[in-house]
Amino acid sequence: MTRRLGLGTVIILFLLAVSACTPAAGESVLTPGSPQPSPSVSPVPTGTPALSPSRALTVTLSPTASPTALPTATASPTVLPTTTPTLRPTATPGPTETATMPPPTVEPSATPTPGPAPDGSARSARVPILMYHYISDPPAGANAVRRDLSVSPALFESHLRYLRDHGYHVITLDDLLRFLTSGQPLPERPVILTFDDGYLDNYINAFPLLKRYSMVGHFFLITDFVDAGQADYMTWPQIEEMSAAGQRFGSHSRNHPDLRGQSVDYLVWQALGGLEDIQKHLGYHPRWIAYPSGSYDKRTIQVFKSANYWGGLTTVQGATHTGDGIFELSRVRVRGSYSIDDLARLLALDW
Ligand SMILES: [Zn+2]
Repeated sequence: MTRRLGLGTVIILFLLAVSACTPAAGESVLTPGSPQPSPSVSPVPTGTPALSPSRALTVTLSPTASPTALPTATASPTVLPTTTPTLRPTATPGPTETATMPPPTVEPSATPTPGPAPDGSARSARVPILMYHYISDPPAGANAVRRDLSVSPALFESHLRYLRDHGYHVITLDDLLRFLTSGQPLPERPVILTFDDGYLDNYINAFPLLKRYSMVGHFFLITDFVDAGQADYMTWPQIEEMSAAGQRFGSHSRNHPDLRGQSVDYLVWQALGGLEDIQKHLGYHPRWIAYPSGSYDKRTIQVFKSANYWGGLTTVQGATHTGDGIFELSRVRVRGSYSIDDLARLLALDW
């Protein structure tokens, strides 16, 4: 009796063992010649295509709630690529690295704090966001574009003096966001100063003047150019010094591409790459993207929202902002040819 029961037990155990080794319905069997699955891709039932990173992101990035909803903390982890995370090399990656597009990573400490919670009220504000580029005299022989983008230090100072003497108050983009989302009051005649591209003359010429007038500017960095130590661009130590003195920094993308019509993967690389680089050097999560050359589309906005940016700045001309347009903020371009009277006229425009 005992012997027969023991044999039955052995048979049952054998059957269980065979069952455990037999692929369940839907599982695939790897043969020696089969390609090995990526270690980062979890098994999926047969018939359901494995989600590529871009498909997963597309799902994640489907439109969320109301247009005024700010990025939620839960959106951040899902935007991370599912490929094996790698730390960006500490060596300076040059612009030529862009072809390889290594997956960006965000350190665990990057868990973002949610932005100001919208209270549901529709608000608008007329706040000119001045857009500067070079703050220097254009070099001899400069072409029309360069001259147009260059405001001399003397003219720039006259702008700051005009703002101070005519009751303007320089505020931050965060201040504007807090007004649009929760009604936190703005001062009289608010104005915002922005500087695109992160040129070296911003540190040499604009920074001392901003300090002298106790004003804060937002500087938008092309982070790969800074990493590569490109001439004409600010260095990280200079940027860190400005940040410690209260100046603000945002992303102008990694390498200034056209952000229209790009894949989600590419946009994630641009959004998180710039973000983590600034965070690594300045210790905070940059919240604002100035779209390079003002180029963006709906997908650009979705990706930067999911990466927990709070808003985006365009090159569309205008000064009125609404709570549902925080990722399409208009600006006022300041040209090298503008006199103080031109600036005064633009600041007073109701547009
Ligand atoms: Zn630019």
